[in-house]
Amino acid sequence: MKICMIGTGYVGLVSGSCLADMGNNVICIDTNKAKIDKLSKGEIDIYEPGLSELVRRNFAEGRLSFTTDLGHGVTNSQICFIAVGTPQSEDGTADLKHVSNAALAVARAMNDYKIIVVKSTVPVGSCDAIAEMIRKETTHDFDIVSNPEFLMEGAAIDNFMKPERVIVGCGSQTVLDTMRELYAPFTRTGNPILTMDVRSAEFSKYAANAILSTRISFMNEMANLCDRVGADIDNVRRAIGSDSRVGPKFLFPGVGFGGSCFPKDISALIRIGEANGLPLRVVKATRDVNEGQREVFVDKIRAHFPGGLDSLNIAIWGLSFKPNTDDIREAPSRTIVRMLLDEGARLTVFDPVAVENFRAVFNDTVRYAPNAYDALIDADALCLITEWNEFRNVDFDRMKRLMRRPVIFDGRNQYNRRELDRLGFTYYCFGRPGGPPEAGT
Ligand code: NAD
Repeated sequence: MKICMIGTGYVGLVSGSCLADMGNNVICIDTNKAKIDKLSKGEIDIYEPGLSELVRRNFAEGRLSFTTDLGHGVTNSQICFIAVGTPQSEDGTADLKHVSNAALAVARAMNDYKIIVVKSTVPVGSCDAIAEMIRKETTHDFDIVSNPEFLMEGAAIDNFMKPERVIVGCGSQTVLDTMRELYAPFTRTGNPILTMDVRSAEFSKYAANAILSTRISFMNEMANLCDRVGADIDNVRRAIGSDSRVGPKFLFPGVGFGGSCFPKDISALIRIGEANGLPLRVVKATRDVNEGQREVFVDKIRAHFPGGLDSLNIAIWGLSFKPNTDDIREAPSRTIVRMLLDEGARLTVFDPVAVENFRAVFNDTVRYAPNAYDALIDADALCLITEWNEFRNVDFDRMKRLMRRPVIFDGRNQYNRRELDRLGFTYYCFGRPGGPPEAGT
């Protein structure tokens, strides 16, 4: 099929490349000329495992192209995807200006019937509003589809190539059939393409992010209580996660969730509830617990250094909001680093790929170490914020020799308390206060 993908960020570039890999002709469009120039030379300005190879291969084989010329993309496509950003506005609602601009530009460029697919995460009712807007601008026929994206950064290609489900919302059966055909190669293993009305599809994305983030906040609250009552959250997590009604995923406590989706989407959902006269109390609590979790972490540091943090050297491992991405949007590291800097700490940070994005925000307010161990030189403490694989199996003896004081604040419950106790570290984590022998699996 002939497709254009408007917006070439994490979602647009992954979706466009994967669709091209299945044999479709995909024109990727972006208003950011520097990004398009780079992509046209095979250079990619985001880090996503496997993406470079996928882009280069499909570009070389002529199925994937890049342009800033939206008219060219639209006139040469039968399906136009909108995958632009929907950031959070000051008041917490989703800011739809990029979606509106893209939709208007599509309307003005249309030369015949188009299927317009909204992949961006948009509040319920947005697709209807977009359809209305387009109708005022063109006499050509079109159908609008809501096709929210569920990929996770860091595993985006695998998620797109083998989705657990595809959600497609549209009022037209013919269009739903076309979308089924488009996604059929991705669902050969039998995972479902769930078709529904547009509003339910739009809502599904927000509800999915809300329930996942609620699990995390719930576990964070349980972990904080474990710290008070002497229970071990790892044991509790295994106990509840082995119940098939609960399942084992998204039950890991820590410094809380971040990223470009969960925080802004639950904020938008709260505002949708308010706009419809229904305060969403569970979702609000999820947000509050998450924001508080950064404070819980810094409180552990404050409690260990009762004389204050002024002039202490603190090493930070992990800046991206999760492993395997360079994305630092709403990353817990940002809030924690700001809080520590405000209290006078001197920070040396390290991340395998997110340093440049971090530097663009924090400039020289922190020092940047070339590797994880260098960050520890003369450190009074280490804070582990993002659980990159390379931080999992580390040389604790070497760490102890490099650090001024062997103190670890583990924001992701990565390390074994018993081992660290034995090695002479002072170790803090979430909900694992130590005590009797660990239980078996
Ligand atoms: P992004 O910020 O990485 O990329 C958006 C791109 O759109 C940018 O390159 C920007 O220059 C471009 N753009 C903006 N206005 C444009 C216009 N009028 N015409 C052409 N290009 C334009 O955003 P993202 O992370 O890819 O997210 C896109 C959407 O997908 C959002 O609604 C987001 O909530 C949703 N989503 C994101 C993820 C994720 O993991 N990042 C997952 C699922 C859904």
